Amino acid sequence: MYDLLIKNARVIDGTGAPWYYGDVAVKDGKIAAVGKLSGDAAETVDAGGLYLTPGFIDIHSHSDDSIIGCPTAESRILQGVTTDVGGNCGGSEAPSGTYPSMADFLSAVEQARPSINSATLVGHGTVRKAVMGYSREEATDGQIADMQALTAKAMEDGAFGISTGLIYPPSCYSTTDELVRVVSAVAPYGGYYATHMRNESFDVVKSVEEALHVAKEAGVRLQISHHKVTHKADWQVSCKTTVAMIERARRQGLDVTCDQYPYRASATSMSSNVPSWAFEGGVDAMLARLRDHETRAVLREQSNASHEGRWCDIYVAHVHTEKNQWMVGKSITDIAEALGGKDPADTCFDIVLDENNHVGEINFGMCEEDIEYIMSRPFVMPGSDGEAMPLTAPGKPHPRNYGTFVRVLAHYCRDRGLFPLETAVQKMTALPASRLGLTDRGVLKEGMWADLVLFDVEKLRDDPDFLNPQQACSGIRRVYVNGVLTGLEGKHTGARAGHVLRKK
Ligand SMILES: [Zn+2]
Repeated sequence: MYDLLIKNARVIDGTGAPWYYGDVAVKDGKIAAVGKLSGDAAETVDAGGLYLTPGFIDIHSHSDDSIIGCPTAESRILQGVTTDVGGNCGGSEAPSGTYPSMADFLSAVEQARPSINSATLVGHGTVRKAVMGYSREEATDGQIADMQALTAKAMEDGAFGISTGLIYPPSCYSTTDELVRVVSAVAPYGGYYATHMRNESFDVVKSVEEALHVAKEAGVRLQISHHKVTHKADWQVSCKTTVAMIERARRQGLDVTCDQYPYRASATSMSSNVPSWAFEGGVDAMLARLRDHETRAVLREQSNASHEGRWCDIYVAHVHTEKNQWMVGKSITDIAEALGGKDPADTCFDIVLDENNHVGEINFGMCEEDIEYIMSRPFVMPGSDGEAMPLTAPGKPHPRNYGTFVRVLAHYCRDRGLFPLETAVQKMTALPASRLGLTDRGVLKEGMWADLVLFDVEKLRDDPDFLNPQQACSGIRRVYVNGVLTGLEGKHTGARAGHVLRKK
């Protein structure tokens, strides 16, 4: 007798193969059989010809401490995500003061009993900070050996690879040679290298070159994170070059893939507008430099120069202080104007100071043509760059947290016709599963864990938008995690059946 029998579904198995009519039986959290099935089940669901697919795997998330703070992960479940990979962009929860080892962090996630399956990378920034703090010095051989040892230990504990965030201190203080040597520590474990590159703007081509070089020299697979071009003068030009470079590297035998979030805007910390040298010594040292009159003048000039007048594209996402609440959803340009024509960099710096650096921004820096060009490549998969959040999250978080996967299915696949539905599903399931080396998820077939999504393709809509991000997506009818119904008609059932995944 089965626990669950889903009958009469259009099965898209995740491999890219055409859909077929089938029934799917689940027993003990796993797919027990697929085909024309009869037999008893504790529960039978008539899919009524809707599409049934493997659960979506978000290869690029930041559900690090948030999966412990928000284990129900509504932002993930309500768009069909059943597995999340954290520790991206150079930042992981371990090794740190809170979680001395990755094993400590993963057991804390286990204790939180999340609704989704949870995997993580180890962050190069986190490892560098553990060894040398926020020093801008070049790492010595001894320090590199220490970083390699911490990285290897995190891999032993179950991390899937290493990430860098080369615009963020202290990851950004590393040389290419340091990266090659530290990244090589994941090679014996079959780990991969995910990189938020040094520059996604005017220097994106050189950054792709560095990423390819590091992966090749370190002997690991490469995942270019949230690939995009944010320099307006290079729109529709640079991405053709970077895609050609990636295709050439693939022809030459380097296993390189990319992820991408399907929006024109990015989201990050407001302090990313402060030149990175100001972070030497840490966040408090950066805040002190912003308070110092002379240093502030230098920072103001550099920041204004690098923005080339694009402060109007940068919006305040969330603040903590009562007095700055009026700024949420407004651009730096508008805020500066409301403050009587204040300098835009000063406006930004004062917000960072007021909020003690806990302030997020949304930055409209990409064009649709580039998004579609990159997305259409077979080696590109969606990654939200978002995290586990409740529907009650404060402020205006980036809608990618809640809507990435449905936006790709509804807008880019169904409405824009960039690729068939089977390809869209493959990009969200089997492709990221193969990146992670998962052999028991990402494809709908007998013996796999029963992570499943049932959706109505005509009704799919990415309702979460920049004005009202905290919403469920329409059209996602049922979401199962390890065979347990966790999302039903846009509501979370309260189930928490996720597993912590460790690299074997
Ligand atoms: Zn990033």
